[in-house]
Amino acid sequence: MTLTSPAVLATATDTHCPYCSLQCGMRLSAGADKPAEVLERPEFPVNRGALCGKGRSAPALLDRTVRLTGPLLRDRPGAPLRSASWSEALDRVAAGLARTRAEHGADAVGVFGGGGLTNEKAYLLGKFARVVLGTANIDYNGRFCMSSAAAAHRRAFGLDRGLPFPLADIPHTGCLILVGGNPAETMPPAVRYFRELRENGGTLIVVDPRRTRTAELADLHLQPRPGGDLALALGLLHLVIADGLTDREFIARRTSGFDRARESAMAHWPDRVERITGVPVHQLREAARLFGESDTGIVLTARGPEQQSKGTDTVGAWINLCLATGKAGRPYSGYGCLTGQGNGQGGREHGQKADQLPGYRSIEDPAAREHVAAVWGVPAGSIPGPGKSAYELLDGLGQPGGVRALLLAGSNPAVSAPNAGHVTERLRALDLLVVADVVLSETAALADVVLPVTQWAEEDGTTTNLEGRVILRRRALDPPEGVRSELWLLRELAARLGVPDGFPAEAEQAFAELRRASAGGDADYAGISYQRIVAEDGVFWPCPAPDHPGTPRLFLDRFATPDGRARFAEVTHRPAGEEPDEEYPLFLTTGRVLSQYQSGAQTRRVAELNTAAPGPFVELHPRLAGRLGIADGEPVAVTSRRGRAVAPARITDAIRPDTVFMPFHWAGAGRANSLTNPALDPVSRMPEFKLCAVRVEPVLKEVTA
Ligand code: SF4
Repeated sequence: MTLTSPAVLATATDTHCPYCSLQCGMRLSAGADKPAEVLERPEFPVNRGALCGKGRSAPALLDRTVRLTGPLLRDRPGAPLRSASWSEALDRVAAGLARTRAEHGADAVGVFGGGGLTNEKAYLLGKFARVVLGTANIDYNGRFCMSSAAAAHRRAFGLDRGLPFPLADIPHTGCLILVGGNPAETMPPAVRYFRELRENGGTLIVVDPRRTRTAELADLHLQPRPGGDLALALGLLHLVIADGLTDREFIARRTSGFDRARESAMAHWPDRVERITGVPVHQLREAARLFGESDTGIVLTARGPEQQSKGTDTVGAWINLCLATGKAGRPYSGYGCLTGQGNGQGGREHGQKADQLPGYRSIEDPAAREHVAAVWGVPAGSIPGPGKSAYELLDGLGQPGGVRALLLAGSNPAVSAPNAGHVTERLRALDLLVVADVVLSETAALADVVLPVTQWAEEDGTTTNLEGRVILRRRALDPPEGVRSELWLLRELAARLGVPDGFPAEAEQAFAELRRASAGGDADYAGISYQRIVAEDGVFWPCPAPDHPGTPRLFLDRFATPDGRARFAEVTHRPAGEEPDEEYPLFLTTGRVLSQYQSGAQTRRVAELNTAAPGPFVELHPRLAGRLGIADGEPVAVTSRRGRAVAPARITDAIRPDTVFMPFHWAGAGRANSLTNPALDPVSRMPEFKLCAVRVEPVLKEVTA
């Protein structure tokens, strides 16, 4: 970190990191004659100046040598991408979208967005799909991240905001259970809150099949089999009920549905739960006692329990534990989700999700449709209904009845989607693939037209962090000459497709319209302005009026359900979409490493990060490695019913002997998502990234066999 001299500060711009949902505050110093430089911004309350290596090295993404600097297009299928002017590229896109729509209907045109897009971009992308293209088929990669937690949140509380309280509340709770998250690697500055919790005398329990860096900080680490989280939560509820640790007064006054939840929990007695999860009974008892006896408590989930074909029910079971012990809707207690992507929260609130309209409104709600239609100046009946969820949309590309022309922004599904080999084939089958991105990602490399767009430091725009705090990224420097913002290109495309108005290219104008569109919705931004965000270090939604203070803590008086009561979920244990068997005897679980981010499209282009995390690996337990004859560092093949990946072995006793782990940031032979199972959660339509059945073999033996 560079020391902050007064001269530099005077020219520096307050902004935020381009990567994860913590959205750390930083200061960017940029001059015409020197590369941009990251400086500390200690007064921003979420990270208080701390940044991880990804944030510190983010200016490397601005370098012309790693990013796109002009449009590219392919003259015919199979021809190489060549440089093009903006007008030629946009004419080609508009003509292709119009032709597909005319020949195959509006739903043959699709839009795929991303959880890293600003609120303004996500809002206008949704409007573009519904108003200009008239298609129902828009979804985004956030469906792959937070949708199960979102669905469970809404089912229980009537409202979905990742954290219903600020991170600063965490150190004041008595007991925190973190399920399937590894913030020590994904968002290191957040670890401070967990350390402070322990310094204050609180207890940290981590649930993870791996002994991660985060698990090493815990007072108690529960290491269940992948897919065991639902049974584990039910088992803990069983024990708090059996030990008389429920809060009867809270249950009676503020919840509904306890009796059925109780019935299900009582069928998950400790020995049964030990058999299902592999977690010893004495650890179950210890966890139930620590959480149940604590006056205050928080449960946080992340992708581990969420990215399952039973993710919504699994999160619901953990929420049940909070509700039964009275740990919700009061200070320093509650359930929250550690959102992943930079704008994973805002990205799901403003209309790029297949079933939603801005303000977190349901696209099937007649009143919501009327409100948004009035803001857009179109008849409510012209807004399409719900479209296909992300994987279903990708699975149908180029198929009869599927999308044939796709506009994709800020996403790299050729690496990040489950069953990625199949998804890549589907992308290749499109009549027209248009990708708007900063870099030539693996997906952009498949496109017919590539549109180079501005990024975090080159544009204004809001994001909403994991706390529901709306923040502002500021433009600190000019983009390269041939680069344009998504807002500009949506305006240009809309005009070419016959809608000359309603697509502002200026972010603040787009935000003004978003505020009106969100007014009265769950995620109400009506009272939030750029000026307030700057003055107040972010504003928490809902904030329905300029004089409203915003809402850092939700549900203190009532939950957002029609009767104001939180609802217990009716859930019971069930197997994963795919369990190990004779042919595929091991679990594969996937996740992240400290120095890479998501599909790696950005971070793999940053030399410092690549040196720290140069490639994929397969983590396996020494007993398993010994049985398979695999030495540390030796290449191993991991095979599932969908594909094969090869990467060096990393032998560690931090993982269960029945499970192997691969990070999913890489393309090519080590692409973990070649293996993953697209089995969908029936409610959230979230694919089961977190576990599938595989076999593992040493590559040399395989070759010589
Ligand atoms: S923790 Fe997240 S937001 Fe903060 S610097 Fe690292 S990647 Fe950026």
